[in-house]
Amino acid sequence: MRNSVVAIVGRPNVGKSTIFNRLVGERISIVEDIPGVTRDRIYAQAEWLNTRFNLIDTGGIEIGDEPLLVQMREQAQVAIDEADVIVFIVNAKEGITAADEEVAKLLFKSNKPVVLAVNKVDNPEMRAEIYEYYSLGFGEPFPISGAHGLGLGDLLDEVVKHFPTFSEEEEDEDTIYFSLIGRPNVGKSSLVNALLNEDRVIVSDIEGTTRDAIDTHLKRDGQNYVIIDTAGMRKRGKVYETTEKYSVLRALKAIERSDVVLVLIDAETGIREQDKKIAGYAHEAGRGIVIVVNKWDTVETDEKTMKEYEEKIRAHFQYLDYAPIVFLSAKTKKRIHTLLPMVKEASENHAKRIATNVLNDVIMDAIAMNPTPTVKGKRLKVLYATQVAVKPPSFVVFVNEPELMHFSYQRFLENKIRDAFGFVGTPIKIFARKRS
Ligand code: GDP
Ligand code: GDP
Repeated sequence: MRNSVVAIVGRPNVGKSTIFNRLVGERISIVEDIPGVTRDRIYAQAEWLNTRFNLIDTGGIEIGDEPLLVQMREQAQVAIDEADVIVFIVNAKEGITAADEEVAKLLFKSNKPVVLAVNKVDNPEMRAEIYEYYSLGFGEPFPISGAHGLGLGDLLDEVVKHFPTFSEEEEDEDTIYFSLIGRPNVGKSSLVNALLNEDRVIVSDIEGTTRDAIDTHLKRDGQNYVIIDTAGMRKRGKVYETTEKYSVLRALKAIERSDVVLVLIDAETGIREQDKKIAGYAHEAGRGIVIVVNKWDTVETDEKTMKEYEEKIRAHFQYLDYAPIVFLSAKTKKRIHTLLPMVKEASENHAKRIATNVLNDVIMDAIAMNPTPTVKGKRLKVLYATQVAVKPPSFVVFVNEPELMHFSYQRFLENKIRDAFGFVGTPIKIFARKRS
């Protein structure tokens, strides 16, 4: 089941990013740091009263050096296209401007639920001045102060009321959801087309079963798959669709709903900084991952080429050591048929459960082979381990003192678990806990 998406729209300086950061809170900074991944603070998860939702700061999407009004129109359009609920922010210190009215008109026509927030209402006396904002046509204006965190609860109460209800059967447990991410022109749409044209693949248009009409349903060898669309696959030709931030936003949105993410790399141009950034997002999200090197037809190969290329990828994407690599060509269809089975394997591993007794046999064997470390005269004692979650598989190892579990020993245990159970194509997580 996907989360509802809320987009923040408004002129520059009304306080969009201040509010975004407040609503997202600590969530952004707690994810692990990966060198080379710079965070785009335009899309993140937030929570209100036990309801999770995803938040977009449309102000982060800049379209070249277009005039303000064009920027705002495009940002409003992103909100209309991507969000379930739009929060339209105006500035109490400046009143309603022509640009506000212009955006209001666009939002009004979209028929999406819009909640109007009047920001920079820093003290109660200012609340009396918000009535003029009724004229924008979105009903009751909510006075807030992003800087002081005032009024946000009432605003969120209203936002949550407009969330659509997603039916349970919308996302089927037995169906594998996957997406393709990568820089513009790596070949995402070509690869989707190649997959859909495979002999053994049956494409079905199941109308009305998903909200996102752009999902593609297919079946191969009795297994159902859904390909979740990302920017660069639709190619509708809107101005903002060519911006990097927007493609990152679409990729993040797609990753969120995926069991498995295909990270595409262009063999013709080689690995770029943006590839690492995109792969970093998929890794952080804890999804299954398959690395796809596309356009392999453009590379002159001998018996060593593939191995050398693989080493290069491993060096650039060290944190993705669990991801299998497929070298293929969407153009010539070479090795296309290996891709869906690989997606299936990654998905099965991502959801795999290991019985506690079997897991503990492996852990105890590992410890017998490589005894636990001693730190300052104190030895780490591993009592037992158990799998606590799937997607991705997560394990808790109960120990005498969690601080004694050194990174390298944890890594050793992870490798032993991988050796024993496979887990190709999925990250796994291990936590050391003190047994009380
Ligand atoms: P954005 O361009 O819409 O993302 O706006 P920012 O979040 O960057 O905020 C623009 C300026 O307004 C910054 O200097 C903020 O500190 C300030 N600001 C944001 N929220 C409030 C508020 O509630 N009250 C006051 N007085 N200033 C605020
Ligand atoms: P997207 O932006 O990631 O969806 O990329 P496209 O699928 O539109 O492909 C971008 C360009 O790369 C197009 O000109 C394709 O014809 C070309 N292309 C895609 N896959 C291959 C491939 O396997 N080999 C070669 N030589 N070209 C490819």
